[in-house]
Amino acid sequence: MPRRATKRGDERTPLDRDCDVLICGASFAGLAVARELAGSGAEVLMIDRYEIGERQTSACGIPTGWLEALGLTGALQQTFGELVIHTPHATVRYDLPWTFSTFDYRTLCGLLADQTDVEFETAKVIERRGDVVVTDRGELRAPLIVDGLGWRRVLGVGDNVQPPDALLSRGLEVHPFGGGSDLEVWIDRRYVPAGYGWSFPADGEVRIGVGSFDPHFHVKDPTIRLATDLNADTVRYQGNWIPHALRPATDDGIFFVGDSAGHCLPLTAEGIRTALYFGIACGRELRRVIAGEQSREQALARYHRFSADHASPFTWMLRVQRLIPRVAPRLLGPAVTAMGTKRFVDWSFGHYLDVAHPSFVAGAPARAVSVALA
Ligand SMILES: Cc1cc2nc3c(=O)[nH]c(=O)nc-3n(C[C@H](O)[C@H](O)[C@H](O)COP(=O)(O)OP(=O)(O)OC[C@H]3O[C@@H](n4cnc5c(N)ncnc54)[C@H](O)[C@@H]3O)c2cc1C
Repeated sequence: MPRRATKRGDERTPLDRDCDVLICGASFAGLAVARELAGSGAEVLMIDRYEIGERQTSACGIPTGWLEALGLTGALQQTFGELVIHTPHATVRYDLPWTFSTFDYRTLCGLLADQTDVEFETAKVIERRGDVVVTDRGELRAPLIVDGLGWRRVLGVGDNVQPPDALLSRGLEVHPFGGGSDLEVWIDRRYVPAGYGWSFPADGEVRIGVGSFDPHFHVKDPTIRLATDLNADTVRYQGNWIPHALRPATDDGIFFVGDSAGHCLPLTAEGIRTALYFGIACGRELRRVIAGEQSREQALARYHRFSADHASPFTWMLRVQRLIPRVAPRLLGPAVTAMGTKRFVDWSFGHYLDVAHPSFVAGAPARAVSVALA
């Protein structure tokens, strides 16, 4: 596919055009939509303010099955069969029923982009007026428009989502050089009253961070504290807001995918596989429109329902997210230990994977959907 580096200065030529599908945002969500449209024959334009893979947006941890299903193991850095959970009074190892891996963001985005045949341009989206997307390089028009622009929901109706009062968490991490063999999390109020800390080793660097479910609680000092406790350098910061509630997946004729639709899971703040999963679902609906098998309105309705039908696990996880900070610290250790039996871990993590299972890539039905699509 023709891919160009982020255009700067004089290179930022005017960009004013029509296309069949306009995908705004070239991270996990946007790239997954684009992948489903490969070979459809449609004129698909994808835009992002940065070059593809230029700005890492997460700690880049994902169930390994997703890398395998999408043919992205070339980006894999480290794989973990256990999760180590630290509480103030106990450390517990969960033997996971499936493995979790860290990956390199730039490599993964490049590999995903190679599976698409979209045209890519760097442009910053400013706003939308009907089916016109206004960018800093000009106006783009398409009958099918996807917002994969992240938590701000830039193409939504009315004002963009505004922290700190929206249903958002905040996360910040440092990326020191170093190593490790464990995937670790800390549920400990010394770092954050409601949230958790993490350390994800990734082949020569470690991603150490803190996420707060309370958007008013600042996480810079806790991140520094956790990194310092781990004898790691506090360098190469990366942080962002993280949605923790589902939002309508369509509105005013626009398809929202990934963080823009609140597809990031509450409690764990895992939003990569869900961005990929809902991106695939959205891409499949768009592809049927391009093939003349359904109208744009039908695609909007079906995708909207598909996303909304996943409300149950999102609601449950939000409840647990709100419950955990209320548990007395002295009870956390025994509770986390009690939940560490092989049987319970297999059951709970099995259901957790089912929310967005990698078998969906190959066409298996969605496992967490209660109502089958007509
Ligand atoms: C510190 C931190 C660590 C995390 N770690 C993990 C993890 O390990 N595993 C996991 O599953 N999830 C993790 N998450 C959550 C995860 O990063 C998000 O859920 C995921 O990135 C959502 O993907 P997306 O494609 O919807 O949006 P994003 O990845 O945010 O991509 C949005 C894209 O839109 C572009 N964009 C935004 N605004 C504009 C604009 N106005 N014009 C043009 N382009 C624009 C951006 O450049 C970007 O490329 C983490 C989040 C944070 C903050």
